[in-house]
Amino acid sequence: MMKKIAILGSTGSIGTQTLDVVRQNGDIQVTALAAGNNIELLEKQIREFNPSLVAVWKEEKATELKNKVRDLEVRIVSGMDGLIDVATEKEAEILVTAIVGMIGIRPTIEAIKAKKNIALANKETLVTAGHIIMPLAKEYGCAILPVDSEHSAIFQSLQGGQRKALHKILLTASGGPFRGRKLEELKDIKVEDALKHPNWAMGRKITIDSSTMVNKGLEVIEAKWLFDVEVDDVQVVVQPQSIIHSMVEYEDGAVIAQLGTPDMKLPIQYALYYPERRFLPGDRLDFSTLTQITFEKPDMETFYGLKLAYEAGRKGGSLPTVLNAANEKAVALFLDRKIKYLEIPKIIQLCMENHKNIPDPTLEEILNAEQETYEFIKNRW
Ligand code: NDP
Repeated sequence: MMKKIAILGSTGSIGTQTLDVVRQNGDIQVTALAAGNNIELLEKQIREFNPSLVAVWKEEKATELKNKVRDLEVRIVSGMDGLIDVATEKEAEILVTAIVGMIGIRPTIEAIKAKKNIALANKETLVTAGHIIMPLAKEYGCAILPVDSEHSAIFQSLQGGQRKALHKILLTASGGPFRGRKLEELKDIKVEDALKHPNWAMGRKITIDSSTMVNKGLEVIEAKWLFDVEVDDVQVVVQPQSIIHSMVEYEDGAVIAQLGTPDMKLPIQYALYYPERRFLPGDRLDFSTLTQITFEKPDMETFYGLKLAYEAGRKGGSLPTVLNAANEKAVALFLDRKIKYLEIPKIIQLCMENHKNIPDPTLEEILNAEQETYEFIKNRW
């Protein structure tokens, strides 16, 4: 039986690796794709995978793409309506949300209402709108299958025990390229330094987020929603070799972990075929050459973006949106070389301090909080 999927963000790091998994398996049909700008790659993807529907964010780009694929039977759409068309495409059973940013919220909500299971990479959706997404998924009977490697590891480890016996989640972190350094030593970090992740090759934004540990903070909040726990039940454990992808501890003290080489194709494939496991080509852990797995406590004073994320996750409401939006803008400013590295957490903190938290915000209130945060930053930097 062919499995049918749609992908938001097919040209990105997760999107292209999802298509690698499709290519390697041969029994997945891609019915719809969406991307932002990269119509050259989209054209190649259309010719290889034959989707019936494709969305491009900007209308001009969509028109350009339409011309390129005139010889094919594919409908090209654009804008938010286009993203929603892809997210709700009739044939697809699973929507892979591999788009970056809060732009993923609305399409994800619509996909759930159309009863699609969600293979979720777009963590911003859960961080900012978890209180809307999770109950909605329950109401419509949809599964939210984690693609983020740590959350997939937690999900896999949870297959090893009863959910009610879960004591805590041990979320592992590589610590990023600046692990061990103090604030003083991070003053002059350049874009190139921060873009070098020790273990994983990812999109630019998430790579910077890994270096500041804000990514880990977003993951703590993501875990809270995915696994229905409090943020203080999620403990970050630094494991620099990125061999343990995360663990869970049960009431009796047993710790169950998922280990492997760092390859996003594993969590992607697991989400697409859950609960089935399949052969996946690639490197295996070799315990005859593996010499050590080490652990450290995260340094929340230096990487205080992580501490801010715990605070946002604890208080909830619209505060995680402010954390996320402030981080997004600050990272963009840093990548444009307009601010210094250490201004990233500073901006997040200032935005959070300035925000009047809205408990249980509606989608509109979330999107407003995002815009207000952007404005706040624009007026100052
Ligand atoms: P990338 O930046 O590599 O890719 C983002 C994708 O989103 C691209 O296909 C891009 O299209 C598309 N996109 C951006 N804006 C729009 C828009 N307005 N409309 C339609 N498409 C758009 O990001 P990643 O793949 O690294 O990350 C995607 C998500 O997955 C993020 O939420 C990230 O946090 C999460 N994640 C990523 C991991 C990784 O290993 N990379 C690991 C775990 C989670 P285009 O390039 O054509 O503009």
